[in-house]
Amino acid sequence: MSTQSTQPVHSPEEGHVVLVVNAGSSSIKCSVYRVVDDPAVEGGTRAILGAGGQIEGIGVAPRVVAHMADGRLIVDETFPVAQVADHDGAFRLLRLVLAVGLRDTPPAAIGHRVVHGGARHSDAVIIDDQVIEELAALTPLAPLHQPHNLSAIRAVRQAAPELVQVACFDTAFHATNGVVQQLFALPYSYFTDGIRRYGFHGLSYEYIARHLHSVAPDIARRRVIVAHLGNGASLCAMKEGKSVETTMGLTALDGLPMGTRSGALDPGAVLWMMASGMDHDAIEKLLYHESGLKGLSGLSSDMRELLASGSERAKLAIDFYTYRIAQEVGKLAVGLGGLDALVFTAGIGENAPPIRAQVVERLKPLFGMEIHAEANAANKDHISTRESRVPIFAVRTDEEGMIALHTARLLREAMRK
Ligand code: ADP
Repeated sequence: MSTQSTQPVHSPEEGHVVLVVNAGSSSIKCSVYRVVDDPAVEGGTRAILGAGGQIEGIGVAPRVVAHMADGRLIVDETFPVAQVADHDGAFRLLRLVLAVGLRDTPPAAIGHRVVHGGARHSDAVIIDDQVIEELAALTPLAPLHQPHNLSAIRAVRQAAPELVQVACFDTAFHATNGVVQQLFALPYSYFTDGIRRYGFHGLSYEYIARHLHSVAPDIARRRVIVAHLGNGASLCAMKEGKSVETTMGLTALDGLPMGTRSGALDPGAVLWMMASGMDHDAIEKLLYHESGLKGLSGLSSDMRELLASGSERAKLAIDFYTYRIAQEVGKLAVGLGGLDALVFTAGIGENAPPIRAQVVERLKPLFGMEIHAEANAANKDHISTRESRVPIFAVRTDEEGMIALHTARLLREAMRK
């Protein structure tokens, strides 16, 4: 695609309007940002949210909900299946809805969250036919996400071929990991064939690294472990704001137990399932959708429900969850050679004081860290005591904002050429 013809829709002072798209299997989330210069923040630009919304139940029971950044409702409406049968229909509809947030200004570019960038992509990239082909070839590594990310990209390309589209990868931030941190102990040829630890949630970690750099530059440069605890969950060890190691692997299944995903598992368990007659699809469904907190508790993948439940199985699921997080923090601290700060983020990390308290309690003997009960209960940014040898933070992440920043950066570079 030619990027030469791209015209900025605003003067530089007003920044660029960017539409951020996060396409999942049955939902598409979209947000509108204005990216403006701000010399006071790390990187020199800031993404300001204008409006955001999502469409759920594509092909089943489509519902669109969208809000302005100040919380005002733009729309909350269900639609006939025929009108939103697939991602193309959903995307067209969302764009119409968000035109309100755009104040009728067409976006200068679209930034997509793409789960897997493989070994080639260590940064966001402007999408052309070759990039689409490369990303399609990575589908077996992220079968539940990559096809939906690509279908949104293709839908836009068909509807507005002149529009600059940028792919921002969950894997890219971890391209700085060393070979030892990426290896599996399989024959070495598997590594060169791409069977290696890529890691995910990179846009979240990159945002946190940038944020720390702006608010606590001393800490940002040191040995930091970030716990991204949402429906998906992983940890990232960082030094100098760069990823050193992470708990997710070749796919987003490894590492910590998650809402419905198992996390790390003895590969022998998978061999046992195969020998007992389960096929690929049955095993995939079990490991991605029926395991983790949901499978252990037999109740829910939602941490709020587990915390409220009080049942023995919910308690067991939470115990296992916090134990595994603490265990993996210890493991990553080996790679870092110590630990200077711990940061919690994402749905559970930002909002669940009892989970943070349990994790920190388990780490206390090893690292001398101590949570500040009141600050933790109030979800403050800084949640450790003055005496804690390792400061602890709870920081709101912004993956979409990070995508907007990358998209505006690549758009500017393309316009300069
Ligand atoms: P996703 O990975 O889908 O973006 P989120 O980052 O939104 O997920 O995290 C979802 C998780 O956060 C759910 O388990 C939800 O229960 C949990 N969560 C959100 N708010 C709270 C809260 N106030 N207390 C405990 N858990 C919460």
